[in-house]
Amino acid sequence: MTNESYENPAEHQYVVTLDDVTGDAMACTCPHHVHRSAFCKHMAAVENATDDGTLEAFPSEDNDDERISGPYTGYDKDGNVDHNYWKCEHCGAEATRKGALTDCC
Ligand SMILES: [Zn+2]
Ligand SMILES: [Zn+2]
Repeated sequence: MTNESYENPAEHQYVVTLDDVTGDAMACTCPHHVHRSAFCKHMAAVENATDDGTLEAFPSEDNDDERISGPYTGYDKDGNVDHNYWKCEHCGAEATRKGALTDCC
């Protein structure tokens, strides 16, 4: 039993096999399913995909605005984890909601 963590999850995508007739997820190549026959999150994601052919089994942050980086972890004055925030790389503005940075500069 190894417990690996991956720097870049995009390089470790899993393949979910669907039943042609029912559309149910039958199998997945990830360890949860291979080793434990578990109904894993990948299978759930594929089954829940919309019928119009679009599938995003591994949702990622909306990265089409490259000014914004984050989320970062924010700390309160005592050094405790307090909030997440996003930062604009252009003007340095920070906000606890990513949407608040859409027109900061
Ligand atoms: Zn899986
Ligand atoms: Zn900005």
